[in-house]
Amino acid sequence: MSDRKDSAEKRLGASTMVLTRGYDPRLSLGSARPAVFRSSTYVFPTPEAAERAFSVATGRSRQAEGEDVGLIYARINHPNAEILEDQIVPLESGAEAAAVFNSGMAAIMTALVTFARPGDSIVYTVPLYGGTQHLIHQFLEPIGIKGFPVPAGHTKHLEDLICTVPNLRIVLVETPANPTLRMSDIGLAAQKAHERDPHALVMVDNTFLGPAFQHPLMVGADLVLYSATKYLSGFSDLLAGAALARDTALIEQMKASRIMFGNILPPDECWLLDSRLPTVMLRMNRASKNAQRIAERLARHAKVRRVLYPTLFTDPEQIRIRDAQCEFPGGILSLDLGSKAAAFDFLRHLQIGRNAVSLGGVETLVCHPKTTTHSPLPVEELEAAGVTDGLVRVSVGIEDWKDLLDDFQQALDKL
Ligand SMILES: *Cc1c(COP(=O)(O)O)cnc(C)c1O
Repeated sequence: MSDRKDSAEKRLGASTMVLTRGYDPRLSLGSARPAVFRSSTYVFPTPEAAERAFSVATGRSRQAEGEDVGLIYARINHPNAEILEDQIVPLESGAEAAAVFNSGMAAIMTALVTFARPGDSIVYTVPLYGGTQHLIHQFLEPIGIKGFPVPAGHTKHLEDLICTVPNLRIVLVETPANPTLRMSDIGLAAQKAHERDPHALVMVDNTFLGPAFQHPLMVGADLVLYSATKYLSGFSDLLAGAALARDTALIEQMKASRIMFGNILPPDECWLLDSRLPTVMLRMNRASKNAQRIAERLARHAKVRRVLYPTLFTDPEQIRIRDAQCEFPGGILSLDLGSKAAAFDFLRHLQIGRNAVSLGGVETLVCHPKTTTHSPLPVEELEAAGVTDGLVRVSVGIEDWKDLLDDFQQALDKL
């Protein structure tokens, strides 16, 4: 792609670019949608071409302007990953490059292991996705990478840690937090981290509100990470992960790790995820509208102690962060029903919402975090995080919101 074409493309909107960029039908017999290239290996036209491809792939020489070195082997790269990566970039405001992985954890692990070395520190918000927290405790800390947790939304504490931990390398922000939806200030984390060390990396797990409603790269973050298993794919039928950055060198480094780790997203999954991208904004908008209508009505229900949802924030600091970095409240809400018995009965009585972990699908999923997703956490951490006995988390889907509201109300009325 020439530079001129590139800059002309930048003027198109994301919802146009996701459908026009990165895929050339002429390379697939004119088919309107990409083919799936399942081949594990690629045939070289000449031995010289093979030599050249390896020289470029191993970093011994650089690809010349306009040169097409061709593909080698599907663990290194394959056409469906390239197409997907080109098409996902415009969805993330500020991104210039992307890498796709075979799960969200694979993207997060590759990011942390690529950029942190023994002796480095990682500051991270809690509650953090359970798998990520495990990765830090069970794998990174034993090899000498130190983790420093900070409760979500504690802006002063976040700033203090960023300014004082030894050898700050990474700040990992997951916002809003799961399942409390407490928000952390991405812009402040980026500003403080970069003031301290221009090479420190601020990574944001943007799974809950991105790519539609929260744009970390636009407020200074270096790397955006996704469990694409959730909203990006949207149908609860595939595992995938993605990393996006403005600085293409960061993504190149992660791709070099990906070759060693063997965790590139395979062709079929790339193709599936690719076909879901054009509708992610539509799905997320609908889920957010549904969730807001439901959250604001359930907040008035006698059996509900509290609804945790961005439009219902009362803490001025939370409201400030929300208004500064989120465009819409999103499709996740949590209900505090007072006790485990009430939470379990609520789950039992639901007829439309299904009792399952995961989120971001077109169907509504409801779970009890304390006994499931968050059950490995020590009691003190659960308490500090606000993961109470009565809390249920709802990932609102794209069903008719009135049917969902009726379903929640009939289940609550039976408590
Ligand atoms: C699900 C999830 C992950 C892990 O993603 P997988 O695709 O399951 O590996 C990471 N972060 C958040 C916020 C998630 O919801």
